[in-house]
Amino acid sequence: MSFSAQVKQELMRVRPEKHCCMLSELSALTQTCASLRLSGGGRVRLVYETENPALAKRIFLLLKRRMEITPLLEFNRHKRLGGRRLSILTVPEAESTRLLVALRMLQESEGGTVFKGVPRAALTRRCCRAAFVRAAFLGAGSVTSPDQEYHLEFVTTGGHADALMKMLEKSGIQPRVTKRRDTDVVYLRRGDDVVSCLALMGAHGALLDMENTRISRDARNQANRARNCDEANLKKQLSTGEKQARAITAYSLAHSLGGLPPLLQELGRIRMLHPEASLEELGQMLAKPIGKSGVNHRMRALMTHILEDKKIGDGNDDQANAGFIGRNTLQPHPD
Ligand SMILES: [Zn+2]
Repeated sequence: MSFSAQVKQELMRVRPEKHCCMLSELSALTQTCASLRLSGGGRVRLVYETENPALAKRIFLLLKRRMEITPLLEFNRHKRLGGRRLSILTVPEAESTRLLVALRMLQESEGGTVFKGVPRAALTRRCCRAAFVRAAFLGAGSVTSPDQEYHLEFVTTGGHADALMKMLEKSGIQPRVTKRRDTDVVYLRRGDDVVSCLALMGAHGALLDMENTRISRDARNQANRARNCDEANLKKQLSTGEKQARAITAYSLAHSLGGLPPLLQELGRIRMLHPEASLEELGQMLAKPIGKSGVNHRMRALMTHILEDKKIGDGNDDQANAGFIGRNTLQPHPD
């Protein structure tokens, strides 16, 4: 089961008991799952649609208990959903108007204009804010598994994002909003915000799972950082050795190493054979082993020969080139 499905299953078990919270939950479910269908004479019917049968049952019971409305329940196999069953709850016309007024989405005095209101308590009481956010998640939310990334989102339509943003902000959460096709997606990207939102909604089991994953993820990240650092150092060492081996090989093909001072010839031959070796390791392979700093000094002298040869070679001056190779630039090592 996905983490999202796990959270929803847990939230389904949280039942709003208070009258105020039931209305708040109905408000969020109406905003996320319902649409208005026009009937004759400018009258409307509210129609709820969901693929989740448990959510359909929840809406049915809320309408009955809180509003004494019995919606018409139908099922429909939906081609768009790959043949999955869609639960459809239709609220009769007269009851639709009463429900919209109770949800503060309709004011009869204003000629029956439907707008994006929410019950006052949803904005002022903590219990109702929690009920609203929980229902909005059940209707239109999803959350990514915390071992991948921190991301929780609500997909809203019809300008309902504002109310949800306000409620999250009042609960100390920092939501962001973005457009995705014709929807406004309200989302959380910080681990702390996702945790706060799970706590607000009452998904305490999922919250514990997430905290456990966070702890092991942080430990894993730390180990990965250390390993990446080692690998980067190793890479640097490899690429320097490879560069040296390549330069020495190119030089020996053009001039042979025979013209170089014997100590540099020896080091050059060993480097060509062992591009991956560290300077310390190279030092141990010499006939007369020397330490890292000695190898470093000798390697610099060798590379100076090769690089200066390249500069002169680029000028196509064979005379100067030949004269240079004969010169011994190996200085005595200060140690
Ligand atoms: Zn309440």
